[in-house]
Amino acid sequence: MVRALRYPTLARIAAAMLIGLAAPALADDFDTQRGQMVADQLVQRGIRQEQVLRAMERVPRHRFVPAHLAARAYDDGPLPIGYDQTISQPYIVALMSELLDLQPGRRVLEIGAGSGYQAAVLSQMGAHVYSIEIIPQLGEAARTLLFALGYRNIHVKIGDGYLGWPEAAPFDGIIVTCAPSQIPEPLKAQLAEGGRIVIPVGGPHVQRLVRLTKTQGRLVEEKVVDVRFVPMVNEKGEKY
Ligand code: SAH
Repeated sequence: MVRALRYPTLARIAAAMLIGLAAPALADDFDTQRGQMVADQLVQRGIRQEQVLRAMERVPRHRFVPAHLAARAYDDGPLPIGYDQTISQPYIVALMSELLDLQPGRRVLEIGAGSGYQAAVLSQMGAHVYSIEIIPQLGEAARTLLFALGYRNIHVKIGDGYLGWPEAAPFDGIIVTCAPSQIPEPLKAQLAEGGRIVIPVGGPHVQRLVRLTKTQGRLVEEKVVDVRFVPMVNEKGEKY
């Protein structure tokens, strides 16, 4: 009798252990992929700021892409997020975050919340983030997800980011993840002294990523690299 009972009991314990292991095994898989992404796509290409690398090691990018693309979340490229928009390539997110050169506790304005991923990375770096998204469904989804993941220092507003967020200005950093043909005047005005704007500027096919630093009230421009972002549009869908 004793022996007959022992085996089923062991089998049940073994089964319970396997079920218990299944979920952490999946989580570990994404953690591994994220570590690889940081090493292969960021460190190898020259991203050096520890706070950027640590943030991108921690933010669960697979939660910011549509569920059916989760397995490709750590690939070296952008991915569609619906409404003809994309989540940027990890390297571009890291590069733009590094270019802002932020200290923890600083205020950052993002134009183009999209999935909310870039905002999460900045928040994880210790910034207070204000992010504007013009497509209401994307903005609301980003807000809900960021709250569910526990980010409490990100504010998402639905609206036209060309105009900036005057009530929350001035900002120490402004990051623009959609491309206008010119740098929006309201954003220049809402930048604090010593602050930086990182923005792709140009036509629909290729843009130049530039960094502007406000020094004694003037903006000093540095060109960084050619990039390709979706255009910045107004509420009628017309390109800026
Ligand atoms: N930063 C995002 C990627 C954004 S893709 C992420 O991490 O996922 C660019 C986004 O800019 C799109 O969601 C697009 O709808 C938005 N956008 C375009 N024009 C805009 C405008 N004038 N104001 C605010 N958002 C805008």
